[in-house]
Amino acid sequence: MSEVVDHLAEMTGFRDRDVMDVTLVSALRDLLEPLSVAIFRCVGIGDDGGQQRWLTRARLSADDAVATADPLWSDPAGLPLAQDYPQRLDCMHSRAVLQSQQGEHFINLFPIATDREVVGVLEVISTERMSAKAQRLVSSVLRIYHNFQGLLDYSERDTLTGLLNRKTFEDSFLKAVSELPARAILANTDDGRRHEGSSPRYFLGVIDIDHFKLVNDRFGHLIGDEVLLLLSRLMRSSFRFHDLLYRFGGEEFVVLMRCEDESDSAQAFERLRLNTEHYAFPQIGRITVSIGFTQVRIEDSPASAFERADKAVYHAKDSGRNQVHSHADLVLAGKMLEQAQLSAMELF
Ligand code: GH3
Ligand code: MG
Ligand code: MG
Repeated sequence: MSEVVDHLAEMTGFRDRDVMDVTLVSALRDLLEPLSVAIFRCVGIGDDGGQQRWLTRARLSADDAVATADPLWSDPAGLPLAQDYPQRLDCMHSRAVLQSQQGEHFINLFPIATDREVVGVLEVISTERMSAKAQRLVSSVLRIYHNFQGLLDYSERDTLTGLLNRKTFEDSFLKAVSELPARAILANTDDGRRHEGSSPRYFLGVIDIDHFKLVNDRFGHLIGDEVLLLLSRLMRSSFRFHDLLYRFGGEEFVVLMRCEDESDSAQAFERLRLNTEHYAFPQIGRITVSIGFTQVRIEDSPASAFERADKAVYHAKDSGRNQVHSHADLVLAGKMLEQAQLSAMELF
């Protein structure tokens, strides 16, 4: 009994979801001594025809010293397809504990849900049929895990849309910037050109609904809120599962995206613009968004990167709305000045 309590204390002692998942599988392995225990998250991938895949959040086998997990930035194409594991999907859809036998192994699946939706499964593989008592123990531990995740969501997420809130933006932004390679240590290729390889690049986009005040004025605030909720769903389906989506306030949204290059990022924002333009919002009909984006630089503060993207949004608004603009392209085209150029001009 005290062993269970110790594990629960450890699991809820962190505010980091990665650590929580690892402590959950460690606790269950110690308590049940199965062949393996794992948490799989079912992720939908926007630019992959909506195909769903399994991301391993944490996994421990009987004799593993440490848990393994897929990196958050895994290439979606390398993850197993959801449809290749139909029992896990059944478990998610039925929201029920499922047990089956495969050869000499017993597979136990438990749904993992947030307050909004079922997001994945916990899988316990054992050599013996799991007793009803052990199943109840797992279900109870999962309830505590669920409640604790709910508390984290409450402090990190916007209650209307479920997207991340503005408060969490600064931390995740600084974490992303700390991953950027310093220019000085980039390797040079044989031909002397600077070679960035597959080093991470982040792009920050600001999305603002066009003429949203008119929606509220004509249809009322409740319908306005529904538009915000539907747009947040369009955002989820337009970007990759690991892109960070925020509601920044009112009808303004921010995306922090990791991409190979600017054209990938531009494509993703263009996809959202098109998806929004073509979506039939109930009662209202068509809505459009204006989007500005910029590549995150190593010297950026959250505010400086946001400001560049926001300027590109203003440009989109001035040029007729329902457009995506890159800040860098606007500077190149001579339609906008860099902050450094503006400061230099102020000197004269
Ligand atoms: P623009 O195309 O220039 O962006 O025009 P706009 O009307 O969208 O811009 P403006 O910033 O003037 O108005 C934003 C409006 O968003 C004002 C307010 O009525 C509405 N709004 C802000 N927060 C909320 C919210 O939480 N719910 C609802 N329903 N409306 C909101
Ligand atoms: Mg606005
Ligand atoms: Mg607006």
